[in-house]
This record gives sequence, structure tokens and C-alpha cells, in this order.
Amino acid sequence: MNILDGVKNISKIVKQYNDLELNQQIIDLTQQALDLINENVRLTQENEELKRANDLESKIERHDKPFVTISDDDKSIKYCATCWGKDKQLIQLHQRYYNGTECLECNICKLRFSKKDIQ
Ligand SMILES: [Zn+2]
Repeated sequence: MNILDGVKNISKIVKQYNDLELNQQIIDLTQQALDLINENVRLTQENEELKRANDLESKIERHDKPFVTISDDDKSIKYCATCWGKDKQLIQLHQRYYNGTECLECNICKLRFSKKDIQ
């Protein structure tokens, strides 16, 4: 039986006594139970997000280069080291050509470097 079912059961019993003050207390208690349930849902989601972020952090591989990779991922997939360092945002770098030079670029911070500079 969860907390809300418990309050509902008490509410049924209290209604038999036809006591307005007691009824109001049960209504308040029901609202407090709902608030607690909502808070619990919010905290559970927040905890899940933190676990995911922590798990990801442990998989990030830093290099002496402007990108990061993920340990259990394809190493050819490169992510922006600037965005990761600043906001823990994992932004995949995209291949572009500028004046015939093959470059990797971040769509968020606009970091750009030539692929041959990182080899
Ligand atoms: Zn970036």
C-alpha cells in the first residue's frame, strides 16, 4: 500500500464521523502526500540524470587535441572538447570542407580545425 492509498483509506473512515475539521485535515494530508510523491518523482529523475552524467564522465577520453572520444564507442567519432569542458555537452564534430581543406567543426561553439592538424 502506498502513501496515497493509506490517506484515502483514512479519508473513508473519517467521512463516517462527519467532522468538518477532521475532513479538512485529511484533505491537507492528501495534498501533502501528493506533493511528496511529485517531489519523489522529480528527485528520482534528477538522480537518474546525475547517474547518466557520472557514467558518461567516466567514459570520456581526453587527448592532447581539441576533441574527446568515448571509451566504449567508435574512436572515429570525435566530440568537441570545448563544449565538453565548458558544459559537459557531448557535441559530435562534423566533417566540412573549407577552401578544399578537410576540417572538423562543432555546430555549437563553431570550433574548427583541419583534420591533418590532429594526425
Ligand atoms: Zn563545441
